Amino acid sequence: MELLKRRIIEDGRVLSDQVLSVNTFLNHGVDPVLIAAMGREFAERFRDAGVTRVLTIESSGIAIAFATAAELGVPLVYARRRKALMNEGEYYSERVPSFTKGIVTDIVISKEVLKANDRILFIDDFIANGDAARGALRIVERSGATMVGAGIAIEKAFQSGGSFLREQGIPVLSLARIASLEGGQVRFAEE
Ligand code: 5GP
Repeated sequence: MELLKRRIIEDGRVLSDQVLSVNTFLNHGVDPVLIAAMGREFAERFRDAGVTRVLTIESSGIAIAFATAAELGVPLVYARRRKALMNEGEYYSERVPSFTKGIVTDIVISKEVLKANDRILFIDDFIANGDAARGALRIVERSGATMVGAGIAIEKAFQSGGSFLREQGIPVLSLARIASLEGGQVRFAEE
């Protein structure tokens, strides 16, 4: 998606060979025009996949997932980070290492908002090693639902998460695929 790639070049900040900051338009500051355009791209790609629910993980995927769900006319559910006082039997829970925070958190989804007949479109802002996507997929599978696609804003193609999802047979659309962040430079993968 040219609009997103241009924005990454103009406003993204390479923090290391592994990490890109997009805090001014996606992760902290949010550009609604760009986000809405991303939602349209994902909806167009997955419109015929019979999606019944969009799924993301709090918090940075929520805006894009909302835009996508609104375009598709289906509900959105976002996995929450577990807090105390959650009643075990009412939730699916998976342990997920956080790429940026370097800690492990439990993500949880209430059984009230994920059903066995759901066809899930997973949306996230970044995919790196694929731990977040793997945790989401495990919860979807445990609920009996099916993950019919994944829409990722920024895939760091030099890390293995995108390949993992494709190897599971899940169709993946990444709007920007980054081949390398080495030397402080963003290099996009060839289309
Ligand atoms: P994964 O679980 O695929 O290793 O990492 C995905 C999650 O980590 C994303 O939901 C995103 O929040 C965060 N993340 C991974 N890489 C980056 C990055 O380069 N920049 C930012 N801002 N977040 C990232």
